[in-house]
Amino acid sequence: MKPLLEAIAVSKHYEVQAGGFLRRQALTLRAVDEVDLAIMPGETLGLVGESGCGKSTLGRLLIRLIPATGGNILFDNADITQLSPKEMRSVRRGMQIVFQDPYGALNPRMTVEDIIMEPLLIHGARANAAARKQVADLLGVVGLPARARERFPHEFSGGQRQRIGIARALVLKPRFVVCDEPVSALDVSVQAQIVNLLGDLQQEFGLTYLFIAHDLGVVKHISTRVAVMYLGKIVEIAEKRALYDAPLHPYTQALIAAVPASHPSQRSRGRRERQRIAGDIPSALHPPSGCRFHTRCPHVMPICREQAPAMTEPQPGHRVACHLTG
Ligand code: SF4
Repeated sequence: MKPLLEAIAVSKHYEVQAGGFLRRQALTLRAVDEVDLAIMPGETLGLVGESGCGKSTLGRLLIRLIPATGGNILFDNADITQLSPKEMRSVRRGMQIVFQDPYGALNPRMTVEDIIMEPLLIHGARANAAARKQVADLLGVVGLPARARERFPHEFSGGQRQRIGIARALVLKPRFVVCDEPVSALDVSVQAQIVNLLGDLQQEFGLTYLFIAHDLGVVKHISTRVAVMYLGKIVEIAEKRALYDAPLHPYTQALIAAVPASHPSQRSRGRRERQRIAGDIPSALHPPSGCRFHTRCPHVMPICREQAPAMTEPQPGHRVACHLTG
């Protein structure tokens, strides 16, 4: 089977001016640095890492919301990296995004019907009875009453607003959806409902997801495979079961130990103390030499400070970048 979406050495670097008034210097911020990724049709790839590790930037790169500064992106076997905005229009229908912030992502002055219908109109449809019927059907699919269409975003709870955002993302019948921390801003009790809804919609419409989260507990239920990102690099990727049961990278091990004990996925296996990952995430402007995790790694060795570990595949389908396994 061929991937639906593939990233080959994809990078996003920003040139930034740093330093004081007299000693300004141009630095390169490597938000995403030569990432290889293949997302298979129908799967959910969980993408996990702490805030600022580049995962949201990677999600936006994959659907060309922002341009890459290096590498190639293939969607359905076609290289979309250099397509013009006009050429991207037809591709865009097939790839959509659900944003993190259900409060900020919806235009407060538009009715729910107009919010959901807008992508259709942008792609040339008319605001006619058929479009309105499509919106009404979608409201039902995401679990909102038909009367919601005449109301405004502020009249809804966070979870309901996220349902509106999901309906908007689905109105063009995409094949690939980036779910960018879709439950991070929601109460824990509502998170599971939205994750379950996304799982149901995947089954119903044959969707493929990139599901971004900073918490391994959130993606556990929905993911087929999980990729772990640290300072702009993928450091480990594996089938869900292999990654949770036998994580190979010390950063993944630390993320698993940091899953909140209150998370629903933990309750069933008894309570476990949450452990903080030692130290702060370094600046992407000044990433550590060698292995980028070496300043926080409990297993650091001299080679880790000098040489970046290559990605290896110690078990079929389980890839990791660490000198312990290299
Ligand atoms: Fe730790 Fe070294 Fe592996 Fe990096 S390469 S995660 S520093 S053991």
